[in-house]
Amino acid sequence: MQPADLDEALTEQFEINRELWEVALEPWGSGVLPSAYELARARRSLQETLPNEGLGFAQTRDHILNDVVPGLNAASLSPNYYGFVTGGVTPAALFADNVVSTYDQNVQVHLPDHSIATDVEYRALGLLTDLLRLDRQIWQNGTFTTGATASNIMGLACGREFVLRAAAERRGSPVTSVGEYGLFEVMQAAGLSGVQVLSTMPHSSLGKAAGVLGIGRANLKSICSTSQDDNNPLEIDMQLLERELARPDRASTVAISCGEVNTGRFATTGIQQMQEIRRLCDKYGAWLHVDGAFGIFGRILYHPFSPEFSSITKGCEGMELADSITGDAHKFLNVPYDCGFFLCRHPSSGLAEDVFRNPNAAYLSSGKATATDTIPSPLNIGVENSRRFRALPVYASLVSYGRNGFQDLLQRQIRLARMIADWLFDHPAYTVLPTSRTKAELLHKTSMIVLFRANDETLNQELSKRINGTSKMFVSGTVWEGKPACRIAISNWRVDEQRDFAIVRNVLGRVAQM
Ligand SMILES: *Cc1c(COP(=O)(O)O)cnc(C)c1O
Repeated sequence: MQPADLDEALTEQFEINRELWEVALEPWGSGVLPSAYELARARRSLQETLPNEGLGFAQTRDHILNDVVPGLNAASLSPNYYGFVTGGVTPAALFADNVVSTYDQNVQVHLPDHSIATDVEYRALGLLTDLLRLDRQIWQNGTFTTGATASNIMGLACGREFVLRAAAERRGSPVTSVGEYGLFEVMQAAGLSGVQVLSTMPHSSLGKAAGVLGIGRANLKSICSTSQDDNNPLEIDMQLLERELARPDRASTVAISCGEVNTGRFATTGIQQMQEIRRLCDKYGAWLHVDGAFGIFGRILYHPFSPEFSSITKGCEGMELADSITGDAHKFLNVPYDCGFFLCRHPSSGLAEDVFRNPNAAYLSSGKATATDTIPSPLNIGVENSRRFRALPVYASLVSYGRNGFQDLLQRQIRLARMIADWLFDHPAYTVLPTSRTKAELLHKTSMIVLFRANDETLNQELSKRINGTSKMFVSGTVWEGKPACRIAISNWRVDEQRDFAIVRNVLGRVAQM
């Protein structure tokens, strides 16, 4: 480990960034996935055992660049990678992330005399609440996480603390905090037999969160409407919701799907419905959580007189009435993995600290700058102790592109999705899902995801494989109503409506003729 290695590492860093960005400028030329040959070669090249004598920096660098890098994909680099919901990395975010690695701050304890890292994190959260049109005074309690899954765990953990505490207090028990006494004791004190999470088409990570938190995956319950009056598969059955909330043996959290991962659609239809859900949650002592990993950013499209995006802005309306909100930054905000955020309407010093407090470690106590310093130590309000300074790329992106930059980006993504949906709707070989009564309805409800299948059963079984086999674009295969389907999820900052529409039309047109 020689200091001279640093010079080489820096030069190398510069070179590789340049090379990668050159590749990124022509992503459809080289394909978004490594070939089977490149993968096998990269795999074979990996060191089997730990050497006694290290290879040294130069040889390791060559190994990484020549052997490992060819085995990586261009999912974030290519604007035509439409799998999962994959954000890229903007120049501002890439720059900031390199600063993060170089300065390697540990954002664990608020130490204002040592670093402004926690100030940046707090300010970045404030800018995010501005972007999402949430009142800073109310919503700046939160933290950066590793992603929406971690944020959903935090949301259900805070909800569990809140609903069980209230139930135990109502029975006059001194044992009220799950964080302090554990789930079993508080559950007994509250006289309840379980906690349930009520949702429509929740992301799988909510099931994971329920599993991790001792709520149980089986207690994530659907409250989907069967009537489908609204032709919306995420529609909430409001009577079923109230019946479940009224159960005397259960404490509940309601989880709103604000942007469903297969369809991009929304569970709620506007402020009135959110007000009614809020009223029911207050009446029955339930916690209201919003999973808005990518969908919550629909709030930046708000324009009182524009009908173009009204289905999306309506779907995001009233989220300020929730108790907690999950969001991802590595999707729409296009910062590097891994980065998500958790926002909460209840002061961290009360609720999140009761769940996540790191007890009795005197060496980790913070030093407040002034009496009015309200910045909490991240280790007391989130999962980790030592943490990466992942707020800096978010801060850099928000400062660099501003409200208008992100609004423009989301509009381009949605317009491309609608161009694709429009073309597929008329194509004899394909059906866009969920099926719409009219094209106008379909386009109105399309956000930045297009779900579709091939009408021919044989083609449909192979559809994602054939599309991805072209290496011009990548889609995720999924299952919709028991049959295979494909998703095109547009989330990259380099989206270009005309260019990308031509690529998608070309590939899907050819695949339909195979
Ligand atoms: C992507 C996604 C998640 C999980 O996010 P990760 O960042 O992968 O942890 C949760 N909820 C929704 C709605 C999502 O789209």
